[in-house]
Amino acid sequence: MNPITLYPGNWLYNAGVVGFLRVIAEHEGLEYVQSWLRDDGTVAIEQNVFQDLFSPVSVGSKSVPKALKYFVEYFCDPERLNEWLDSKDTKGEQTREKYRNFAQEMEDFGYKFIYVGNHLFASRQPFQNLVQIKEWQDFEFCRVLESIPQNLQTTSRASSGRTCDICGSSLIQYPGREPKLEKRLAKFQHTHFTVLGPSEGAFPNSFWNGNSSLWVCPLCVYFMLHRDFAFINLADNSNLADGSRIFLNAPSFQVMWYLNRLVREIYTRENIASVREILGMSLIELAVRLETQLGMWTEMNIEVVSIRGEEVSFCSLPYEVVQLLLDRRIASSLARIGEISVLRMVLEKRFGEILEMGERLMMIAAKPEKSWGKSERKYINSQIGLERNRKDEVKLMGFAASLFSLHALIEERMGGGWR
Ligand SMILES: [Zn+2]
Repeated sequence: MNPITLYPGNWLYNAGVVGFLRVIAEHEGLEYVQSWLRDDGTVAIEQNVFQDLFSPVSVGSKSVPKALKYFVEYFCDPERLNEWLDSKDTKGEQTREKYRNFAQEMEDFGYKFIYVGNHLFASRQPFQNLVQIKEWQDFEFCRVLESIPQNLQTTSRASSGRTCDICGSSLIQYPGREPKLEKRLAKFQHTHFTVLGPSEGAFPNSFWNGNSSLWVCPLCVYFMLHRDFAFINLADNSNLADGSRIFLNAPSFQVMWYLNRLVREIYTRENIASVREILGMSLIELAVRLETQLGMWTEMNIEVVSIRGEEVSFCSLPYEVVQLLLDRRIASSLARIGEISVLRMVLEKRFGEILEMGERLMMIAAKPEKSWGKSERKYINSQIGLERNRKDEVKLMGFAASLFSLHALIEERMGGGWR
């Protein structure tokens, strides 16, 4: 049987799928999920694996689909869960008491299950009323999810002329088991996406087809719920602490998977001042670290999607710059240099300044460190952040030389003409 194949689409869908992959990887391991990523940019999941993910697993005396169990576990932050359990409603009833019957039936998972339902679908939550609280608590949504693999096999284009407006698949239909809920899920309303609500009318047509609602298959609805897991929170960085969240979008799930992992890593390590720099650095790391041939990826449009409050914005690098950063020799050179000032010159295509900087530093490095003047030191300090690059005349000379070689590599690449 053919595997289930997911093709990259608009950024919302892509973020949903990447979030889904993160959840599965958390429980089944990185390699498990990475084996689904194909070089052609798709995700391919074997039928039996897919079926297993959406099969019910018992939790106490109840059952939920395996993938949803993973989702709930992933969603719950123990500290926040406890705070919530200790909180009281307006009538003074403690949450822990209120939902005790779920804990009795499903052990601790019962509380988590209710917590997640409330934090996704209650008022002022990201998917307000998409699933009603009662439907969630009656496991109606679980039953819809469990029907996905079976529907994949039994329905076909012939059975209905309808295609999903997000993934384009016509194979997954709603089984009609929970008609009211399914009707709401299938007609995805703007109000179900509070983050995008205010952008109605202005939002790119790549997602909204101009109607007030889309037809969405249950699998896409499920992926959507994972969207926030793909976003990287920038709130903790002193330079970018404006509360925005970012996701690196590309027309390949493989690229998105590795790029977003790199961004998380770089972000916690470096002092980055702009989203553009995050993108630049992650491309460099991608080029240096991945063994895969990057040739085809350099043709791709890679963009950063930032969500700040209710505002969604996009940032991408010029095509030439992406080509440079994904050239392994240039990327390695930049990684060795390690200076944000130099990276900025590349990002802003100020290539001549790399050469000028090299020349000026070489003049300074021609003299012993002890005889460097005040303005020379000032210049060095303003341009070079790393001690290893500026410690003495020998280090500085080496650094200047690496600037020349970087410039030569860039010239060579650009002189070769853009493909
Ligand atoms: Zn779909």
